[in-house]
Amino acid sequence: MQKKPPKSTDVVIIGAGPAGTSAATHLAKAGINVVILEKAQFPRPQVGESLIPHFWKFTDVLGVSEAIEAEGFIAKAGGISVWNGKTRQILFSDFGYTRAGLHVERDIFDHLLLKHSERSGAMVYQQINVQKVDFSQPNNLGVYFSDQENKKGIIRCAYVIDATGHRSLLARQFNTRHLINSKKNFLALWGYFKNSRYAGADYKSHTIDSIKKNRPVTFVMSYKEGWLWHIILRNTASVGLIIHPTHTKNFNKHQREIFFKQHCQSLPHLKDLLSNAHFIENSITHRPDYSYYSTQICAENYYSIGDAAAFIDPIFSHGVQNAFYNAALASLAIKESFKNPSKRQRYSQLCASRMQQYYNFSRALSLGDLGHNSLHQNLVRSLMKTMPALELELMLAAAHTTNRSENFKKLAMEAGIWKNFIAQSQGEQLTQPTQLNF
Ligand SMILES: Cc1cc2nc3c(=O)[nH]c(=O)nc-3n(C[C@H](O)[C@H](O)[C@H](O)COP(=O)(O)OP(=O)(O)OC[C@H]3O[C@@H](n4cnc5c(N)ncnc54)[C@H](O)[C@@H]3O)c2cc1C
Repeated sequence: MQKKPPKSTDVVIIGAGPAGTSAATHLAKAGINVVILEKAQFPRPQVGESLIPHFWKFTDVLGVSEAIEAEGFIAKAGGISVWNGKTRQILFSDFGYTRAGLHVERDIFDHLLLKHSERSGAMVYQQINVQKVDFSQPNNLGVYFSDQENKKGIIRCAYVIDATGHRSLLARQFNTRHLINSKKNFLALWGYFKNSRYAGADYKSHTIDSIKKNRPVTFVMSYKEGWLWHIILRNTASVGLIIHPTHTKNFNKHQREIFFKQHCQSLPHLKDLLSNAHFIENSITHRPDYSYYSTQICAENYYSIGDAAAFIDPIFSHGVQNAFYNAALASLAIKESFKNPSKRQRYSQLCASRMQQYYNFSRALSLGDLGHNSLHQNLVRSLMKTMPALELELMLAAAHTTNRSENFKKLAMEAGIWKNFIAQSQGEQLTQPTQLNF
């Protein structure tokens, strides 16, 4: 029989993705009672398999890096992009990173983080679907849920963290969730293949059995209708198309699958990587309107973190590390609020502004529509002034390879860091176009 959630606790976290579980670990380690309520039964599928090396600094603090290393995920050296026909490569080691990025099966990665939060003291309840949060008593919130037998329940708590991913439970409850109004408001369509070749750091393609000899990279490419990714995993390859919604308008699942397979078989480079691969039936998922933001993400008694607050665009593989970042901020604000309740509103404001800085930075870079969708350029500029040079350089190179660096340059100039930045990096990392030999 499934164990029942308690009647009350200090903090309820809704959702057990990287945002929810890492917030739970931070709080539980500080001796705070924390309950995670998760709708799915883990391991559950999730998109977002390419991790940039920034994430290690968070998993080190969480104490879970060793478990991640022991799992043996694929270590990636960087990325190759073919953008508007030009091939460029970014290697993390060229930017001074000593640890690799990873290609992870997200069901396994997220489960590992969940088990770690449980070991750290969080109480975890799966197959629990949260419906709403009652804020009528600000110090005694009510989290309403139903279990897998559809039995209703409520947990009382002092703080709620909404980590429900793109479901954005609280933003929908408050009606503060907005879709991005941009020409780049794309749709994602992705699926999985067996027996795919992979893109190597040597610009060649390889079979999976040479993964230890020839370092893999994430492969992205722009094409007429949008752009695509190819991410090699241990037993499969994740392939995604990012396209304008008009291309699959009114399509049913079967038509979307045909569209997807046709593109995979015909697009240059991708078709070479998939030449001996076979599609895993029913592995297609599509997510329309994946770019959105909420205008109200924190208050004295709740925090919306990770994708629950906003998601922009997967082009820079920011999502998971942003979830870790938000979780670290929100749990710090809650820890301080327990110590000093009279300041809890101030802590939540500080947290909100830090989180908005990063979301706005991602939006400015990924979408290229500065000035729209209530984008706060001053927040972006202040973040750029404090970001580690290493991370900024990598972002500039990534923006450059995908023709999105004009925004970056403009903001860096306005923040007064452009000259220093260029002097330090000497433009070395702005990789020159080269040839792909798949
Ligand atoms: C097409 C696409 C490609 C991407 N590629 C990358 C990439 O390569 N690299 C990268 O870093 N990021 C990528 N991302 C983003 C990444 O997937 C997310 O940023 C990341 O998963 C966010 O973590 P999270 O914990 O906020 O949410 P999630 O991982 O979505 O977890 C949310 C959890 O909440 C649970 N939940 C939802 N509603 C309820 C409810 N009512 N009650 C209880 N539980 C609930 C869900 O079951 C889920 O387990 C991509 C995203 C998209 C859309």
